[in-house]
This record gives sequence, C-alpha cells and structure tokens, in this order.
Amino acid sequence: MTDRLVLLGTKGGPALRPGGPWPTSSLLEIGGRSIVIDCGLGVTRALTEAGVNLKSLDLVFITHLHSDHVLELGPLLHTAWTAGLAEPVTVYGPAGTDHYWQKFVQSLEFDIEIRIDDEGRPDIRDLVRIEEFTEGAALDAGGFVVTALRVEHPPVSECFALRFDHGGRSVVFSADTAYFEGLAAFAVGADILVHEAMLEKGVDRLVERTGNGARLREHLFASHTLAQDAARIASQAEVKHLVLHHLIPADDPEISEDDWRAAVRTNWGGELTIARDGTELRLPNEVPQGKGAR
Ligand SMILES: [Zn+2]
Ligand SMILES: [Zn+2]
Repeated sequence: MTDRLVLLGTKGGPALRPGGPWPTSSLLEIGGRSIVIDCGLGVTRALTEAGVNLKSLDLVFITHLHSDHVLELGPLLHTAWTAGLAEPVTVYGPAGTDHYWQKFVQSLEFDIEIRIDDEGRPDIRDLVRIEEFTEGAALDAGGFVVTALRVEHPPVSECFALRFDHGGRSVVFSADTAYFEGLAAFAVGADILVHEAMLEKGVDRLVERTGNGARLREHLFASHTLAQDAARIASQAEVKHLVLHHLIPADDPEISEDDWRAAVRTNWGGELTIARDGTELRLPNEVPQGKGAR
C-alpha cells in the first residue's frame, strides 16, 4: 500500500449547497496506520469512495469541536461498527470529545442495544476508546508520532494543529486558526502542510450572500487565515508542499483556482495544491532508519 493523503472534504464551515464541496475531513495512510483527521459531514461516504474498508478504521483525530469538524464522528464510528468493526478504534480529540461520544451513544441506545441482542454484535461502547489530548505529544507508538500545537481559533480555546511523523515523513494540519506564527516552527521541514485558507474578495461576497453581514466578517477574520498568510507559514517552515483546504469560500462560482493561486503567489513559490473533495497525494517513501534527515 502506498502511503497517501486524501482530502475527503475541503470546504470551511458546516453549510452545504447544491453541487458544492463538503465540510472538513481527511485521510492519512502512513506506515500501515489509517488515520482520519476530522469528521465533518460526508466523511463516511468519502472514506468508502476512497476505497477504505470501514471495518479497518484504526485512528481518528479531531482538531476541535466545531460541527464542520466533528458532526459525523459518531455516525462514522457507528457505521464502521455495523460494517463489522472488530478491533478497537481510538479517537483522539480535545476536551469535550468524550462528552460528545457519551451523548451520541446515548441518543442511539435503542439501535445499539437491539443490534447487540438481535445480531450478536460486540458492544460499540467497548470498541471505541476516547483519548482527550492537549498541547504536546498526543501519541508515540512504534515510530509513529503525533504532536499537537494549540492554535488561535477564538472563541474556541481547545483547537490544535497536528503533526504526524513516521519513517522520516511528516504531514502537518493547521486546523482552524487565525494567522499563527508558531505554526512555522511546528511545521518545519514537513513534506506536506495542509493549511486552512480564506480569500478576502470571496469573503466579502459570502458575507453579502448569507446576510448576517459585519458580524460574520468579523468572526472570519479573527479566527481564520488568509491564503497569502498560509503561504507565509509554508515559506517560513520550508515545507515541501503546501495544500490549502477548509476553503472559505468554497463554492462561489466567481472564485476560481486561479484566484487562490494568485493570492498565494507572492509568498510561496513551491509546490501548491488547492484541495478539492477527493484530492489524493502520495507521500514520499519511508526513509530507512538511521538515514532520517529530520
Ligand atoms: Zn472549520
Ligand atoms: Zn472551527
């Protein structure tokens, strides 16, 4: 299996529009681990379309508890369970993730109990383990290391960028954040930086369209990053490939890929991908032990 990153859902925010992209979720397959990062609406379907057998769901990481990142976590786990999940799944999320999960299984008590009784399934509550993490090392297992960095996403304080390292390769997710200088050191030398991005002219049009005006604009600028600033982080960090996702706006017919590329151009001359739902990138091959260059 080639190690890969698939951007499953690429729009910022939870709203859906006809023909448009879906909220945030990603798949990282690295060193034999299969990791889902964020579970916005559509994650289950997108995983199956990416060829993932839900039975083999292994690890889930949630960056923060905004619904465009967590709405489908419960439904994904439940669907994996009905697909025959046999091995435990661990979900790493910020404080509050366990509360979400407890309430989710409670809301589906009828279905869960009946399937245990009627179909002889193992109890889903025993198959899912929730680990709440904070800044620092979230996981270190068999050469696979995950590190978290608190970013700036007011009014949410528990929001974390994530860095995945294995076999000399590294992939970093910015999570939702305002321009945050600390990300440059955190992402240093990464093979891929997946950064959220917003386009100023698109935001003005979005604000006009959705009708709650100044307040929405204020929120967006205080808690998200303009594409040119995401590019600045990528340059400072000297990453090898910048991927923009969690796009705001994501479904404006007047905004094209060229607009995104133009916004990034002055600050970033390296490899660039403007993510679409289903965009797939191969990771470089594992660096044999002892020759690691990180
Ligand atoms: Zn978001
Ligand atoms: Zn958010």
